[in-house]
Amino acid sequence: MKEKKDFFHTVYDCVIENGTVIDPKTELRTIGNVAILNGKIAGVTRARLSAKRKIDASGKIVCPGIVDPHSHADGQLFSGYVMASMGVTTIIVGSCGLGPYPVKEFLTGLDETGYPLNTAALTPQSWILREKAGIESPYHTATKEQIQNMARWAEEDLLQGAVGLSMGLEYAPVTTWEEMVAMAEVAAKYDKVMPIHSRAGGWNSLEATREVIRLQETTGVRVLLSHHVYQCGQGMMEESLKIIEKARRQGYQIAVDSGAYCDFACPVGSEVFCEGWQQIYDCSYEDILAGTGKYAGQRLTEETFHELRETDPDASVTAFVGKPYEIALALKQPYVMISTDGGFPNLAPGIGHPQTAGTYPKILRELVREQDVLTVMDFVKKSSWMPAQFFGLETKGFIGEGADADILVFDLKRVKDNATFPGMGDPMAQPDGIDYVLVGGVPVVDNGIIQKDAKPGKSIFSRTEIWQM
Ligand SMILES: [Zn+2]
Repeated sequence: MKEKKDFFHTVYDCVIENGTVIDPKTELRTIGNVAILNGKIAGVTRARLSAKRKIDASGKIVCPGIVDPHSHADGQLFSGYVMASMGVTTIIVGSCGLGPYPVKEFLTGLDETGYPLNTAALTPQSWILREKAGIESPYHTATKEQIQNMARWAEEDLLQGAVGLSMGLEYAPVTTWEEMVAMAEVAAKYDKVMPIHSRAGGWNSLEATREVIRLQETTGVRVLLSHHVYQCGQGMMEESLKIIEKARRQGYQIAVDSGAYCDFACPVGSEVFCEGWQQIYDCSYEDILAGTGKYAGQRLTEETFHELRETDPDASVTAFVGKPYEIALALKQPYVMISTDGGFPNLAPGIGHPQTAGTYPKILRELVREQDVLTVMDFVKKSSWMPAQFFGLETKGFIGEGADADILVFDLKRVKDNATFPGMGDPMAQPDGIDYVLVGGVPVVDNGIIQKDAKPGKSIFSRTEIWQM
């Protein structure tokens, strides 16, 4: 009783008043006031509360801040603010086997310099641990000794706070089953998750999906099929979902994330453009748009494509190979969470892929408001509660007492993505209708304005214990 009395008589740091509060954990949707104290949510009530600051959310949705399960922002400041502008409050970096390493050093550094978003990090295997092991080409098979070394480094990194282990099999196409199992066994030992960019897109994507399922079956590791629309959204989505659903019915621990666009971005020098890529993705040079570098905003030709691969292999390009209807096909499945694949270590205004600034507003506009494919509750669940649960972020992804005050306030009537592909507009354009984004109770977006100096994000060091049931 005393506690309740204290609740109503406290002066809070901030109260978000009169909004439509959506809590995906309890599936509660109600009008209420959300009280914030010391970076945490103290509670939700219809009573009037005192606060140093009040935010009027009348007519707007108040929900948990977005947790992006698949980011490449990797500590880059500009990417962080762009992602915050669409409601993201927490990102998982080190995706696709690429990213900062060792994780402890990266996360500690990020806390020292400050960052707008909360960040958790995966141990990146396919590019980074392979390189550290002295594997000089993505076409070189790892030796037994190299595999043992990588497994040892992965274990050390997981013990020091990595939230899981990521692979980008398409980028290291000769990765053996032995190498995959060795990595998965380390993650499984501590029940750490394994997001995997599967071995192939296009016509080979179904076998690539099956391979990830087999890894879960063999080792028990909880897998996440990364950016599924980019892997299978070239006409293979329905078949792939059937394979996943059958496995899930049999109890396999298979999670899936997928985004708002069907045309993927990747480095032009990567193995995605291996021998025969035109057949695999049923496309040609003019279907490739340069996102960064010398030709940003231009469709490529045979000459400029090879020139970029030689001189600027890290330049990001977008391949226009996807089927737009497969975006919704994936996202409407109850087990599929929303991801961006966004952020980029060299991102700047005017370049890149619209996924970094447009993913969540695009889904809210198209799939929630215009097409009624998802409810607002579906959206909130898929963008906060599900990813927070999957990565074990216990104080995130819900609105309730004890949750971190990572909160998004948006106006469903006005929400609109303004990001477009380079050459057609600004891929980093701020969306409309994302009014407040609070990270640990501190606004990074305040009344629609990005707070360029706000760095309230905290690094998330994941706890590690040997798995036991
Ligand atoms: Zn990827």
